Amino acid sequence: MLAITKKDVDAVRYQMESHIFRYNAGGKCSTFEERYAQFIGGKHVALTASGTSALTAALAAVGIGPGDEVIVPAHTYMATAVAVLQVGAIPVIVDIDSSIALDPAALDDAVGPRTRAVMPVHMWGTVCNMRKIMKVARKHKLLVVEDCCQAIGGAFEGKMVGTFGPASAYSFNYWKNITCGEGGAVHCANHQVHAKAICYSDCCGFFWTGRKINFDPFVAGSARKSDMEGAMLHTQLDQLPGLIKKLRSAKQRLIKATEKTGLVAPVNSLDWECGTMMLYFLPSTESAAKFANDIGAGLAIDTGRHSYHEWDPILQKRGHIHPDMDPFRMQKNKGCRMTYAKDMLPRSLDILGRLVMVGLSHDMRAADIKALSQKINAAAKEIV
Ligand SMILES: *Cc1c(COP(=O)(O)O)cnc(C)c1O
Repeated sequence: MLAITKKDVDAVRYQMESHIFRYNAGGKCSTFEERYAQFIGGKHVALTASGTSALTAALAAVGIGPGDEVIVPAHTYMATAVAVLQVGAIPVIVDIDSSIALDPAALDDAVGPRTRAVMPVHMWGTVCNMRKIMKVARKHKLLVVEDCCQAIGGAFEGKMVGTFGPASAYSFNYWKNITCGEGGAVHCANHQVHAKAICYSDCCGFFWTGRKINFDPFVAGSARKSDMEGAMLHTQLDQLPGLIKKLRSAKQRLIKATEKTGLVAPVNSLDWECGTMMLYFLPSTESAAKFANDIGAGLAIDTGRHSYHEWDPILQKRGHIHPDMDPFRMQKNKGCRMTYAKDMLPRSLDILGRLVMVGLSHDMRAADIKALSQKINAAAKEIV
């Protein structure tokens, strides 16, 4: 969504007129999978139909299932928690901190005897503090499955997001840093996990690839992509590094120009995150509402879908259409923690009500940043 150009349109048109199905020699999906793995400095990538299907495949491929708790942050798209339920496990929702990411200390406190994995989510182009999260994960032997849907191209202190654990997921829907309409990808740190993620995403795929897989295929869903989308992912990835560079620079300049306000929210890896969103952390929900209004921005709590208190099917424990397939009712999940309430994490709700979000753009010029910072500095003077 950051930028769709004529190159994307031409690539899709060309592919439509040549070959759309993904299983053909040297196809666009296959070459993109290799290229993307290289781009993130990772190992193996499997394309899927969406970020949600990628998250689900990642969890399934690392062996998460009934009987397991998976920790997810209080602020993310509901799909993170949905993916946990899709593989039969139970999401445990944990506090964020004022960087808008999962709080490593809250993660440490939340681990229980059933907790098998944690899903750090890199929201709005920012990144989690992966040094601290990995330390906690090692201490408790948790699998780390990063949700990188909103942070494609970002890194934590030089290491690309999505390469910290055995599997991770990306989304290429319209709103993400690169898009092909709808799409997703799983990164897998080894061959076995990769083979399972492929099978999970296209359970009949082995018929098309000459049955060359090194394990017995299992029954799963279908989230296959087309080479039309693969073609667009290539042209989108061509321009991503340039866009991220401009976004990072815009954010860094805006921070400099407004840091005297004392309101800039903590940033976990300023030189490496994507720079798509500027966050200000206000002393109270009242001052945040006024500040947001004065500068024409929004509050993190008001996006309508990224705070846990809005995840109705989860809060009301409707985990599947069929009761016997519902993880909330499965015998194996009896010992898992699954008590949810809209007000159960007051600290996160308070933080989200105090975080003001200002979207940045790759085509901001110096004059735009100056005008924006003047508005922000003026609004900050009104805060007592
Ligand atoms: C977009 C998004 C997803 C889901 O991606 P889809 O492609 O819409 O299925 C999951 N997690 C986060 C954090 C997202 O932003």
